[in-house]
Amino acid sequence: MPKRTRRIVIYPGSFDPVTNGHLDIVRRAARLFDHVVVAVSDNSLKKPLFTLNERRDLLRLSLKAEIRRGHVSVDVFSGLLVRYALKKGASAVVRGLRAISDFEYEFQMALMNRRQESRVETVFLMPDEKYTYLSSTLLKDILRLGGDVGGFVPPALVPIIRKKIAANRLP
Ligand code: ADP
Repeated sequence: MPKRTRRIVIYPGSFDPVTNGHLDIVRRAARLFDHVVVAVSDNSLKKPLFTLNERRDLLRLSLKAEIRRGHVSVDVFSGLLVRYALKKGASAVVRGLRAISDFEYEFQMALMNRRQESRVETVFLMPDEKYTYLSSTLLKDILRLGGDVGGFVPPALVPIIRKKIAANRLP
């Protein structure tokens, strides 16, 4: 049988910060592809709480085991996503779909990316139901208000996110 080429997928996003919903998508993608590159986007239009490198490091901390096994890597990127995907040798981009409300924007992006580069497909994966109402924004809001985020983010990240929120609080 001819040797199959390694199937690489890019999972792009802001990840400000990573949540268990994102991690669920990474693990599902890793079962379908040989390698997942989680790519933190340097989108200057958004004003993230965490810097680009901090967001990358939180992902690396959360995906230590998968990275060690060689199934996953974490990177940062700027510029056109499809160009970055080709540079990485990826055949696809994966995005998470939580609800119909995600669909419209994701659909537009996927078609625009295909228009830019037809060799890169977009695939959508749905997380476990318990993550369908979870977002980085809600996670930060709950922590800001002193609520319980158990099950929404790896426990090791909670004090780090709390500290960052406290440091960014307006006087
Ligand atoms: P972006 O700013 O690119 O939307 P996000 O970090 O918010 O970046 O999300 C990255 C991707 O992960 C998107 O496809 C988003 O729909 C998906 N995603 C975000 N939260 C969840 C979740 N709880 N479950 C599944 N997918 C999610």
